[in-house]
Amino acid sequence: MKRIAVLTSGGDSPGMNAAIRAVVRTSIFNDKECIGVMRGYEGLIDGEYVSLNRASVGGILHRGGTILKTARSERFKTEEGRGTAIAKMREAGIEGLVVVGGDGSFHGAKLLHEMGMPTIGIPGTIDNDVAGTDETIGFDTAVNTALEAVMRLRDTASSHDRLFIVEVMGRNAGFLALEVAVAAGAEYVVVPELPLSIGNLCQKLRASHEIRKSHTLIILAEGVMTANEMKSKLQDTGGYDARVTVLGYIQRGGSPTSFDTILASRMGAYATESLLIGKSGVMVGNVNHRMTLSDLERSWTEQKFLSPELLGLMEKLN
Ligand code: ADP
Repeated sequence: MKRIAVLTSGGDSPGMNAAIRAVVRTSIFNDKECIGVMRGYEGLIDGEYVSLNRASVGGILHRGGTILKTARSERFKTEEGRGTAIAKMREAGIEGLVVVGGDGSFHGAKLLHEMGMPTIGIPGTIDNDVAGTDETIGFDTAVNTALEAVMRLRDTASSHDRLFIVEVMGRNAGFLALEVAVAAGAEYVVVPELPLSIGNLCQKLRASHEIRKSHTLIILAEGVMTANEMKSKLQDTGGYDARVTVLGYIQRGGSPTSFDTILASRMGAYATESLLIGKSGVMVGNVNHRMTLSDLERSWTEQKFLSPELLGLMEKLN
């Protein structure tokens, strides 16, 4: 292999730039060339390439977002679209590809692998909902960003004896909500993985009112319902008047934490070196602090579970 390419796909996440930088610099370290593909699979179909050297990835290590941009591509879901993408890559002498994205992007990566284009995935999403890795790139940053916002709300909740519902992202998973709830010392967390009874929640709220808690914070994962829906349910069932905050896209932005910067650097280097020794159809993971490879398919066939230990802490400590 002389020339490889890297792209970012799906939702962006803080740390993607650090991964791009690591892929480029590890390629150069190994005397290979690295091409950047703009706008994910859309750019792959259109042959939208930029050549990257050491200098072009200078100064991006701590920048949020992705310099290669990201996009969703309907065309890539068709055989014709993927065929064009591969033909364009071959024309440009690209012999391998690193895809930074979530499980949707990995579906696409697997298909490229099956069509004979060596491809490796790096998990980048703030949702952490990818099996085969303990953490995805961007998750730690999103937890810290949401935590900072929640701690500000806590100050005002506490001054006014208020009940706050804070809706955090996470798609259909509760990883973000659970870590934010534990770190913020929130009273309750509501996640898609566990059944929710509004009646039980109201009972718990009454109990915490009786022990004179000055405020109550509920962290709600977006995959369960909206914060406004929950507000109405709490009003109808228990007569509670909750304040609602939806954190939204601020959770996807900002500079990556040191954890995410280091994770992305490790994953970028490991993915590149794995590709160069002939690995394909696999994704890089961080499992028990070590870099691993596992089949891309795992990211959508296997469910990743919330930590029972953290769920236990929510019961015991709050
Ligand atoms: P994420 O990678 O963050 O999960 P998406 O689910 O939006 O994000 O997927 C990103 C892109 O990956 C899609 O726009 C599409 O081009 C490609 N993709 C997703 N699912 C498939 C699939 N089943 N087959 C081929 N390509 C897919």
